[in-house]
Amino acid sequence: MEPVKTFDADVIVIGTSIATQTVLLPLLKTNARILVLEGGDYELTPFGNNLTFSDERGHYINHHWGGHWLRQYGGASRVWNGFSAPLENWDLIGIDGRPKWPLGIDELEKYYRISAPVMGEDPSVANLTKYNIAQEFVDRPYIIMDPALAYADAKPLLNNKNVELRVKHNVIKFTCDDSGSFINGIWYSVEGTVHFASVKKNTKIVLGAGGLGNAQILLQPAANRRVAVGNEFGLVGKTLMAHPHIAVGEGFIDPIVVRKPTWAQVNYKKWLPAYIIGADYKTKLKLLNASVSLTISAIRPLSPNEEAVQDFYQKKWRKKLELYTLYARTEQLPNADNRIEIIADKNAAGLHKLKIYCVFGARDLMSLDTTTRMLSEHFLKNKLGVTTVDNDAIFLKPWGWAHPSGITRFGTSPKESVCDHTGRVWSYQNLYLNGSSLFPTVGYANPTWTIAALGMRLGDHLVAELKKGT
Ligand SMILES: Cc1cc2nc3c(=O)[nH]c(=O)nc-3n(C[C@H](O)[C@H](O)[C@H](O)COP(=O)(O)OP(=O)(O)OC[C@H]3O[C@@H](n4cnc5c(N)ncnc54)[C@H](O)[C@@H]3O)c2cc1C
Repeated sequence: MEPVKTFDADVIVIGTSIATQTVLLPLLKTNARILVLEGGDYELTPFGNNLTFSDERGHYINHHWGGHWLRQYGGASRVWNGFSAPLENWDLIGIDGRPKWPLGIDELEKYYRISAPVMGEDPSVANLTKYNIAQEFVDRPYIIMDPALAYADAKPLLNNKNVELRVKHNVIKFTCDDSGSFINGIWYSVEGTVHFASVKKNTKIVLGAGGLGNAQILLQPAANRRVAVGNEFGLVGKTLMAHPHIAVGEGFIDPIVVRKPTWAQVNYKKWLPAYIIGADYKTKLKLLNASVSLTISAIRPLSPNEEAVQDFYQKKWRKKLELYTLYARTEQLPNADNRIEIIADKNAAGLHKLKIYCVFGARDLMSLDTTTRMLSEHFLKNKLGVTTVDNDAIFLKPWGWAHPSGITRFGTSPKESVCDHTGRVWSYQNLYLNGSSLFPTVGYANPTWTIAALGMRLGDHLVAELKKGT
């Protein structure tokens, strides 16, 4: 596809994974002319693959961040596992010094409901957002989408007559007008050759380049101004978060504990049984949000001691107990030391490469520990199970899932956020961010359903703006 001097469209979206595909859904119902810029090709190529290597430091294994950020049509949607859970009100309200979300749970729940069918789920899964917050433990399973939604085929997008898709177009950075109030151009490269295209003032630009990619673009230095376009308030790249997790122990458990949950009247297709601590208790105990899931352990010979324990409690409680593995996942506390920066070296597409720092903190790990121990005590007290909790696993062996979040967070003021409650970058009338880089906090669960919900919410907002002609 030939390079052009002007990207002439009503809306330009960057990236083609879940954040972008969901923002497009409301827009595709209008007459808006949409240009889609995708850095990767239709399949992963060596060129695309090389673009995601960074200097990675911290608790996440080597190339974990880059390995979960795929430069291809459909992005990481092509390989994700498809399980998730919603955030709850407690995650949004700024408890205990954590930043507040600029929207309430009712609005988020509305978009969880709307986005659930897009992700192959029943809208009733959104009922999980709310529960009795005074409870000590809440049976709050993960939803498993099987098969997971994958945007592997571009044809459905290209069937829309108003859509132009340009693959192998890596966005490098934006330029803005002299007053610094709207984006007027995009530097991009095609297989390493750099080009510039101007953008009209009334074109809306939506950046959905992934949890790291959005910040990478907003950190690229500008040729003619002191600060990078989009990082006017210096917050881009700060407070990187994901999800520390580990198998925390095992136990002989009454299978009633993992029965199909019914309290939220959810029409589950597939679910993973899991428990969290209720909001009031989390606040009282200064915990982060953590969940412990239970899966039947792989068959293995029991030690004589384990056999004795199982036998003892089965007789004492007059019930059958089965061996389950307890797996805990927690949110990471937003911490300014966990961050991305750009380095002098550039990648083959012409973007400065990233240096990524992300280390688990005491509260992250203590939340894994306390949540697991409280649940274990609850099982024992209620004759539901007897468990062991593995201290070394929690404090020496946790690892993380690369769900990069929080490094261009949204909020209510430029003093504490990169963009406003809609995702619009504070300084610019026409630049929006989309995806988990917006999340001020991450909850305990994998992020993609929340990304989809926010994508559809932004799509609705853009449709309303286009109607107003703003
Ligand atoms: C192995 C694996 C398992 C996972 N399992 C789960 C799970 O079970 N549950 C869950 O919730 N999440 C899971 N995830 C995470 C999930 O895939 C992501 O949350 C989701 O894909 C993020 O969507 P996104 O649209 O924000 O970004 P991405 O999927 O990262 O897509 C970014 C898009 O932007 C493009 N791009 C990047 N940079 C540029 C640029 N400079 N110019 C132009 N285009 C660019 C990319 O090519 C891509 O199309 C998993 C991820 C992996 C890798």
